Amino acid sequence: MYRTVSDSEFAAFLSYAYRGAPAVRRLLDEAGITPGELGPPEEVLPNLPVTQKEELAAQQQADPPFGGWVSGGMTSLRRVFVSPGPIHNVEGTRPDDWGAAEAFRAAGFGPGDLVLNTFTYHLSPAAFIVEAGVLTLGGVVVPAGTMSRSEQVRLLQQLPVTGFAGVPSYLRALLAALTESSGAMEGIKPLLALRRAWFTAERLDDDFRRELAEEWSVKGFQGYGTAELGIVAYECEVQHGMHLGEQVIVEVLDPSTREPVPEGEVGELVVTAMRPAYPLLRLATGDLSRVITEPCPCGRPAVRIAGVLGRVGSGVKVRGMFIYPHQIEELARVVAGIARVTRITARVDQEGHRDRLFLDVETAVGEAREGTVATALKEVLAAAARDRLRVRPDGIELHPAGSLGDRPLLADERQS
Ligand SMILES: [Zn+2]
Repeated sequence: MYRTVSDSEFAAFLSYAYRGAPAVRRLLDEAGITPGELGPPEEVLPNLPVTQKEELAAQQQADPPFGGWVSGGMTSLRRVFVSPGPIHNVEGTRPDDWGAAEAFRAAGFGPGDLVLNTFTYHLSPAAFIVEAGVLTLGGVVVPAGTMSRSEQVRLLQQLPVTGFAGVPSYLRALLAALTESSGAMEGIKPLLALRRAWFTAERLDDDFRRELAEEWSVKGFQGYGTAELGIVAYECEVQHGMHLGEQVIVEVLDPSTREPVPEGEVGELVVTAMRPAYPLLRLATGDLSRVITEPCPCGRPAVRIAGVLGRVGSGVKVRGMFIYPHQIEELARVVAGIARVTRITARVDQEGHRDRLFLDVETAVGEAREGTVATALKEVLAAAARDRLRVRPDGIELHPAGSLGDRPLLADERQS
């Protein structure tokens, strides 16, 4: 269990939630936990059930509108959102109920920043999470929402916008449109005040992060959160993994047994968000991640997670070990120094009762597919697979670039 929340903050939060939220009262009563004698989260939380989003939706349907998860009634709320499910999620009356300010502070946002907020303002909280963070730090928001791309480009040209909030692919499209409408990039760069971009909901890939920094002098940061929980984790200036937020308690659990996975291994993020108005306890996010055990050079005490590595259900069990698509992606990086590997995919089939794992490798240059280079490539890849997947591949085949087409990273071809 990972947290920076103190024992006493946790106890105060949970006794408040017990008094106000019928769902919390029911769970604690059923577990025989008395709010007067609350121990640390490590003692209390494992006695409570993990709640999945589908269960939250069902509870809200049975006991509308919030399933008993709101502590203070309507007077404790500021906004109500609707997520797929449907799930009614709420924002409490605290100025930064979502815990967003610390994420924006870590990304260097501050007083006087003018932030183009491109998340939708309709029924979904992302835009309001950004607003709460930026406004708390003394910044200013342009509530652009989902206006047309040409209007957003005009805003970037006419206003001294220093920050962007949205998804990476949208900023990429905006910058392309901006370049097109302004002619040569050299002409517009000095005019553009943009220095920071904050992303969530879509992964920021290394290439675009580098392009932003080198071509546009814009530093890109990622945050991770959900509509139910608010901000769970965010990047600091080191930009390697995301620190857990100050108001969350995070567990990394085996999705099937609900037991904690060994530190550093991949499991499902199960989060308790200490938001008094909406005290969700042990919510299963369905997102897979792992904890980075080394301390961060930035000095923040909060542990880091390695971003979202996949969704629960995306794993394939091979000879007793779960393999996830992101691990196959990582194999390509391991062998990058030996030959130009453009893509690696994996497939699993069955011979008798034995699972077999095959790796298909695309290389850009023909020589890499024969002779000593090919031998070295296969040896290193087999060792990396044994090491990282803990499964020895039954075969490794080398293919010309482009021949794997749209094959999935990890395919399960067993007859079930
Ligand atoms: Zn850090």
